[in-house]
Amino acid sequence: MSHSPVKRTARDLAILGGPKAFDERYHVGRPEVGDRDRMVQLFNEVLDRRRLTNRGPLVQELEARLAEMLEVKHVIATCNGTLALEIAERALGLEGEVIVPSFTFVATPHSLRWQGITPVFCDIDPQTHTIDPSRVEELITPRTTAILGVHLWGRPCDVESLKAIADRHGLKLFFDAAHAFGCSHHGRSIGGFGDAEVFSFQATKFFNTLEGGAVATNNDALATRVRRMKDFGFSGVDTVVSVGTNAKMSEISAAMGLGGLEDLDRVLEANRSNFEAYRTHLGSILGVSLVDYDTRERNNFQYVVIEVDSETTGLVRDQLITVLHAENIRARRYFWPGCHRMEPYASEQPGAGERLPETEAVAARVITLPTGTAVDSAAIEIICSVIRCAIENAGMLEGS
Ligand SMILES: *Cc1c(COP(=O)(O)O)cnc(C)c1O
Repeated sequence: MSHSPVKRTARDLAILGGPKAFDERYHVGRPEVGDRDRMVQLFNEVLDRRRLTNRGPLVQELEARLAEMLEVKHVIATCNGTLALEIAERALGLEGEVIVPSFTFVATPHSLRWQGITPVFCDIDPQTHTIDPSRVEELITPRTTAILGVHLWGRPCDVESLKAIADRHGLKLFFDAAHAFGCSHHGRSIGGFGDAEVFSFQATKFFNTLEGGAVATNNDALATRVRRMKDFGFSGVDTVVSVGTNAKMSEISAAMGLGGLEDLDRVLEANRSNFEAYRTHLGSILGVSLVDYDTRERNNFQYVVIEVDSETTGLVRDQLITVLHAENIRARRYFWPGCHRMEPYASEQPGAGERLPETEAVAARVITLPTGTAVDSAAIEIICSVIRCAIENAGMLEGS
């Protein structure tokens, strides 16, 4: 870290010729490595055992640990979250159309479209950033088979309202819980809601297995189908009972996960105190609001999301991103520009944006900021001072 003063003036902004606030880069989503000694020990065990994959003992141990943590009957580990979504969709027998928010990572609609299901984009609630249940019913057609909610930023969807709609119309309900590992809804762990919940353990997530994911469900028959489908449809040696793919998790990934679980409390504590530091330092900056968590629930605090009100700050979101990047603060525009503006959806559903005003507005003003164990309160103070200084000098940044 360089010795830039925390009280900044326009002269200190790198974009206006000042020194960079940081010598090293502070990234959003820098992967966490858990208990390294435990991992290396497990890696060696895997290599000695020569059981590298195919539901080895570590995958089974990880699945059991996760089922307990997530308070759900079945956890089926997979090689990534996207295939876990696709397999859950197949195992649920989905086809036709599925209602899904556009304000999410593109893997959510892609998992549907990859297998010929049309994602029908629903607007979000601007307060929660999750799918707005009051906008779901108008999108239901005779071809609709399910609602796929996304617990964005680890904040649970309005599960009860969505369930009531799904039940009323005979639809399946499942969740992309890629952000919500370790979070709760009404005191209960995310993992057991709806017909299934799907996790990603990709390197940038709160809990990672290098690449990885899981389907969680309380439905025995669904769990059996998912288990078979992620293993070519095998129900036993030489017996194939359905179409399937290969989405198995390897033993090395499971070892990474088991080592990560040992260290998860430390990551959580870092995220939580970082979040508090951001709250403190951003609190007095007009026009910048931190997307907060419900303190009654368990959260992983993995995402520090701010909304930039360009009218108040005089600065559009993308200018602030440029300023931050110049300082080596790799903030991100999650999730810009909204999946409906990405291909193939932009071409296939050109009018979708008109019914997604909240998605468009939120996507234009969000920034996610770096957190995790690489970031500390001193770094956060500087990051926030850069944001404050950029806003105070918005006029000077006009042409930059
Ligand atoms: C990361 C992510 C996925 C995809 O998971 P992978 O494990 O990377 O395939 C899906 N949905 C959301 C919301 C995500 O953040």
